[in-house]
Amino acid sequence: MNGKTVMACIEAAHATLKQNTDEIALLDQQIGDGDHIFNLLRGMEALLAARGEIEATAFGPSLDVAAAKVLSTVGGSSGPLFFSLLSGMSKGAAAHALDVPGFSAIFAAGVDAVGQRGKTGVGSKTMMDVLIPVANRYRELVATGASARALLDELPRVAHLHMLATRDMLATKGRASFLGERSRGHIDPGARSSELMIAAVCAYLAQRIE
Ligand code: ADP
Ligand code: MG
Repeated sequence: MNGKTVMACIEAAHATLKQNTDEIALLDQQIGDGDHIFNLLRGMEALLAARGEIEATAFGPSLDVAAAKVLSTVGGSSGPLFFSLLSGMSKGAAAHALDVPGFSAIFAAGVDAVGQRGKTGVGSKTMMDVLIPVANRYRELVATGASARALLDELPRVAHLHMLATRDMLATKGRASFLGERSRGHIDPGARSSELMIAAVCAYLAQRIE
């Protein structure tokens, strides 16, 4: 695990966002202002442009480099939230081993940082409805001694189910909350983009351990 791994994960996340641009744009048009995917793609392009710097840096510090790029390029509410995810993970990386159990604590530290920044947990119809269940299931799987392969197989499924569950939720945070009851019946765009990025990173890592 080093800056090259981080860059490869960024590339995987970027590719899935490109493939699903229209769908995510539509989701944010339905319950937001339509910019979510374009905010994310702007950030991803800045990260790709910073490849040299990210790849030359150790794992934890490279997440900080990425966090700073995200903060300066991603607009909307998701910019500061993804900054918090990456910088929280970087802090986690300074305190935990870079192995399968350690990475569960590192991811959880990132998700906690998003929760503090956005002042939300599960049930508000946001990206947290995907991030928290994935972090929790990851911790449980580590506690039961699951293999890396089993984990990389299961976490995308957890993310998918919880993304789908945002459809029936009432939005109580962010722009979608302005719609009140009319926010129900639409999947949260941030939940979908988070799910897609988690699935892409897991697929990349699974192929790496083959
Ligand atoms: P904006 O809503 O400012 O236009 P984006 O469109 O980039 O920003 O991002 C919208 C997404 O951000 C939502 O779909 C939701 O998942 C997420 N979000 C909004 N507010 C919060 C919050 N307080 N905590 C966590 N996620 C949030
Ligand atoms: Mg938006």
